[in-house]
Amino acid sequence: MPNCTKCGTWNPDDKRVCWRCQTPLPKPAPQKQRRSSVLWGLPIWAWVVLAFMLAFSVLVQCGGLQNLAR
Ligand SMILES: [Zn+2]
Repeated sequence: MPNCTKCGTWNPDDKRVCWRCQTPLPKPAPQKQRRSSVLWGLPIWAWVVLAFMLAFSVLVQCGGLQNLAR
């Protein structure tokens, strides 16, 4: 929460200038984004679940075909 360096007024994070005195606000410290745990907009666990479901469906289909062949 950046406070104005001139008048000390609290400003929202998305404000670049103080809403009261128009003083440019210092940029807030960049927040660490958890990019490592997100892949293409989905968390890693979601991809793991999707991959597991896909592999499971393939195994079931293959097993079903084998059982029918026998
Ligand atoms: Zn100000």
